[in-house]
Amino acid sequence: MTRPTRLDGNVLAGPLSEVFSVDLTAAARLCSVCGDEGVCAQLLVYADGPGLVARCPGCAVLVLRLVRTPHGVVLDLGGTGCVTIPLGEEP
Ligand SMILES: [Zn+2]
Repeated sequence: MTRPTRLDGNVLAGPLSEVFSVDLTAAARLCSVCGDEGVCAQLLVYADGPGLVARCPGCAVLVLRLVRTPHGVVLDLGGTGCVTIPLGEEP
């Protein structure tokens, strides 16, 4: 049995840029299960497919799943908890 390939959340930057106009890897996150706080770049990302699976570094709950298909991107944010996206000052 081979070990899964585990990466950090920075690997999500490219695929998420196809969906969002902001860099979500810099977004602050709060895990809805264990309360772990950090930025999305700290998520543990498994790339063994299909797609990318990001897990909380505190409790390993599934936070985000992103699968690129020939027809688009399937984005499962079911375990995200709360994400705060830095946008700067409001005009
Ligand atoms: Zn957690």
